[in-house]
Amino acid sequence: MRSTEATSGWYRFQLGDFTLTVVSDGPLPIAPATRGFIDVPDESVIQGLHDAFLPTDRLLLAQNALVVDTGHRRVLIDTGTGNSQQLNIRARVPQGGRLLAHMRDAGIDPASIDIVALTHPHFDHCWGLSADDGTRNFPNAQLAISEADLAFWTDETRMIPGRAGEPSPTAGAILNIRPYSDRLVMVRDGQDVVPGITALATPGHTIGHHAYRISSGGESLIHFGDVVHHHILLLRHPHWRIAFDTDGALAVETRQRLLDELATDRALAMGYHTPWPGLGHVARRGEAYEWVQVPILV
Ligand SMILES: [Zn+2]
Repeated sequence: MRSTEATSGWYRFQLGDFTLTVVSDGPLPIAPATRGFIDVPDESVIQGLHDAFLPTDRLLLAQNALVVDTGHRRVLIDTGTGNSQQLNIRARVPQGGRLLAHMRDAGIDPASIDIVALTHPHFDHCWGLSADDGTRNFPNAQLAISEADLAFWTDETRMIPGRAGEPSPTAGAILNIRPYSDRLVMVRDGQDVVPGITALATPGHTIGHHAYRISSGGESLIHFGDVVHHHILLLRHPHWRIAFDTDGALAVETRQRLLDELATDRALAMGYHTPWPGLGHVARRGEAYEWVQVPILV
């Protein structure tokens, strides 16, 4: 399948009394596919993709932002890559930056977002917060971020270099987060961002990475952000290290703990990068796991 045409960039469903809308920012390619992993033989990556009938020259990841309308507050979890010319983002993610258009298609005015909650401030999660001229894309929103990630990714005295000539992730985070500096809310493990949305510390990919448990009317969903990037490779090989992890060993420990919990609890789960619209369950398969996508009926 060389090209696809989606009917829409959003998917809406109920979770208890909450209305949830997954909104796509567009696909994120990582090429070559082997670039995404460290200490993993190239042949293992390529064979794993081949066995799953996927392209072997690149990883193609979804980018699933999530709007949770609790009836009282509207919360957006992660913002996609944005459209910054200054950061030259379209060279890196040619089909990204669609979040705002897709939100409008879904009838969600960006000005109606009360809080943007980040899983972590990597480019594909926080560069959609602001425009190049310093205006907020979500003008009335507070920004919820962990203290550890805020300190790590916006430290001007320690600019983290970009990979392969790409802009510094520190510069990108600062450009996007600064317009919210008078409206920051700290995300803390076990605490609610708003009633019904609880932050869960899941460190490693970044030191302050958080997942979110969304609960309403006896139903719940665990949004695990980037604890799992690839729905095939990292469930078959939970111990593989991702090239973009701040602390690879801790990321593996966190992934193994979370996958074990999700499988044991038979929890409804969602990943930022799992196939559109990101919803599924984690099934145990011996020492490893399998991602079982929720069927979408239209
Ligand atoms: Zn990501």
